[in-house]
Amino acid sequence: QSRFEQARFIPPDAIFALTAQYLKDSFPQKVNLGQGAYRDADGKPWLLPSVNKARQTLLEQGLNHEYLPILGLSTFRQAAAELLLGPELFAQRENKIATCQSLSGTGALHLAGLLLKACQNRLPKVYIPEPTWSNHHQVFDSLGFPCESFKYYDHERKDMDIDSYYSMLKQAEPNSVVILHACAHNPTGLDPSKEQWREIAHLMKARNLFPLFDAAYLGFNSGNLDEDAFAIRLFIREMEMEAGVCVSFAKNMGLYGERIGCFLLANNSKQTAVHTQSMLEMLQRSEVSNPPAFGAKIASLILGRDDLRQMWYADMFTMSDRLRWMRKALYDNLVSLGAPGSWEHLIRQSGMFGFLGLPPDIVLELRETYHVYMADNSRISIAGLNEGNVEYVARSITQCLL
Ligand code: PLP
Repeated sequence: QSRFEQARFIPPDAIFALTAQYLKDSFPQKVNLGQGAYRDADGKPWLLPSVNKARQTLLEQGLNHEYLPILGLSTFRQAAAELLLGPELFAQRENKIATCQSLSGTGALHLAGLLLKACQNRLPKVYIPEPTWSNHHQVFDSLGFPCESFKYYDHERKDMDIDSYYSMLKQAEPNSVVILHACAHNPTGLDPSKEQWREIAHLMKARNLFPLFDAAYLGFNSGNLDEDAFAIRLFIREMEMEAGVCVSFAKNMGLYGERIGCFLLANNSKQTAVHTQSMLEMLQRSEVSNPPAFGAKIASLILGRDDLRQMWYADMFTMSDRLRWMRKALYDNLVSLGAPGSWEHLIRQSGMFGFLGLPPDIVLELRETYHVYMADNSRISIAGLNEGNVEYVARSITQCLL
């Protein structure tokens, strides 16, 4: 008899299981469009030149492996906050901000959840768009929050369902939390327009809803971080709302495995900033103790040195530009091969992902017959496409649909 008799078997995460299946596949033309990790034009992981240079600089300076402070590397936290808010807003709000280095974007969301839990007598509802990144539910469910999905996407029109979004906000329970993808929504690739963001912010303010931004793909929409941080700054500057931001440097610096991110809380008073900062320190202590140092040192150097920062801006442009070209190439190939249906939705989308709108049986056929791997909901990571495989992918989709 074990004290763990009641442990259940939990199936592996679908996307990681898909990657494992892809790796086992010996078919030479196999294509992995599953995991949301950037790949270069040869289908390889890309070490960003800015990151490479920062790494070399750190090695030349002589790296040690001492503990970081519990809240993380202070130069990194400060630079991340300035990056998210822009220098002007950062200067105005500096003393009303709490920040804590986190285990990438996932850890930032979890810290946000821990803080909300520790500061509220009754756990607020967490509204999560449907569809979304699968881990949103797991993070907030596991902390005991009541989670409620709202319709974000209209499968018929293959477009955002902004009316359902607005009506959810009009009826939402006051004081609840709403998860907002800051840009490049995963999986649909569809974001509100600037006007729609303004309406969302007004509706949220009217019902005292807490905006919790998941900012995992800043830079991937437009190649320009300031442009992609529009919604975050709108809520904090124009609407003067309390807001949480969970930023990840996994994708836009290609530091996936280094687990470098930050949770930022824009408070509305200096006192709550000091108090929430101290609570974040306590919450981090009991779970992580000291966050990992290497990624923080790389990110801090890139953000803090003009030449490296400019290189990084160029790297983000390189990535987003390649994604834009590949999205267009897939669209052009599907159209020229006569794939049944309309594919306009594909070029309306932006960011790392394409949401094809294929039924599950076609997704399975693509995997089993053509060795083209994608998530069950037909989300593809555009980064998995390149000039060598895009026609094969389009042809495979076309053949499945004919
Ligand atoms: N948020 C979204 C929407 C994501 O797609 C991801 C990763 O795929 C994350 C957050 C967190 O990623 P990480 O914890 O690697 O920063």
